[in-house]
Amino acid sequence: MNYNIGLLKGDGIGPEIVSSAVKVLEKVGAKYGHTFSFTDYLIGGIAIDTVGEGLPKETVEGCLGSDSVLLGAVGGPKWDTLPGNQRPEKALLGIRSAMGLYTNLRPAKLYPALKDASPLRADIVEKGFDIMMVRELTGGIYFGERGRREGKYGPEAYDTEAYSVMEIERIARVAFETAMKRNKKVISVDKANVLESSRLWRETVHRIAADYPEVECTDMLVDNTAMQIVRNPAQFDVVVTSNMFGDILSDEASQITGSIGMLASASLGDTSRGLYEPIHGSAPDIAGQNKANPIATILSAAMMLRYSFSLMEEADCIENAVNKVLDKGYRTADLAMGRDIPTLSCSEMTDKILEEI
Ligand code: NAD
Repeated sequence: MNYNIGLLKGDGIGPEIVSSAVKVLEKVGAKYGHTFSFTDYLIGGIAIDTVGEGLPKETVEGCLGSDSVLLGAVGGPKWDTLPGNQRPEKALLGIRSAMGLYTNLRPAKLYPALKDASPLRADIVEKGFDIMMVRELTGGIYFGERGRREGKYGPEAYDTEAYSVMEIERIARVAFETAMKRNKKVISVDKANVLESSRLWRETVHRIAADYPEVECTDMLVDNTAMQIVRNPAQFDVVVTSNMFGDILSDEASQITGSIGMLASASLGDTSRGLYEPIHGSAPDIAGQNKANPIATILSAAMMLRYSFSLMEEADCIENAVNKVLDKGYRTADLAMGRDIPTLSCSEMTDKILEEI
């Protein structure tokens, strides 16, 4: 098969880590008989410097014409003084919305070789964990009606959480479909003891659950979930939740893995075309020094194979290669965790992963 992949390298370490992922995709393509064609499009600070805007029209059109899109990261001190709506990070919201991406998938997995990196106690991480956060991305309080007004105690501000049945149904289906490819467990997170929007969320998720009898579906209140993630992360398989709860809980879950340079993400909509990116930023402090950990971006490319192209074996191949390299003890500087051990550069880590494919 031939696949056209749009590349948004962006700023800082973006170009280095995306180039690593491209090499990995090319190697996997050669092994399994696929051709991946890559086209670069400008986004973020580099786009502002080159054409005067963070998200040029050509980039949007190019991404919409691609089979899927891989993004590095955007932003950096050079553009920090620009007004909010002209900053590189604004381009991210723009491209997600132009591509109609309403689901954010963020795996938070503990790699056995990196157990020491987790801030959790050894007895808690002993069992390992592999959580898939499914966060609704385009609804809820971040997009609801907001404003300032005169209230009971004087001037006040308000934001509104609103979810339609349609929005809940479609994210619930993504969660159940995802669970079907994993351990068939969905935990739906809400605040149904207080919020009416959460009561509709709960009712709707259960109606959709009836279409997936093989999947065990349970509810958990968001405050309890925040505790359970650090108390017993092994209990989770797929977690589905609203935009704001997902924003907070996915960051919490990422931190217990202990390694920001390892975490991938996917944003998906109604088509197979998605936007895949590491969860970290552009790391300006190490940009251009060949020090970045490329694994989060390489694992994002693996997610693209799995979720956009249904190339499961190929995705497994990349993930296994990463596991083997870590098991053999190879580390980039961010994974050394203060220990005085030899570390690999971005390109050396990429080469080790290529050797295992
Ligand atoms: P950051 O994630 O870029 O960096 C935080 C720390 O983690 C830094 O010390 C950095 O060196 C390290 N780090 C991050 N990724 C790494 C990797 N792959 N390998 C090794 N070390 C890594 O967060 P920040 O410093 O808060 O933000 C820097 C810039 O990135 C800002 O302009 C911010 O707005 C932007 N940002 C962009 C995105 C995105 O593009 N999706 C996300 C977050 C932040």
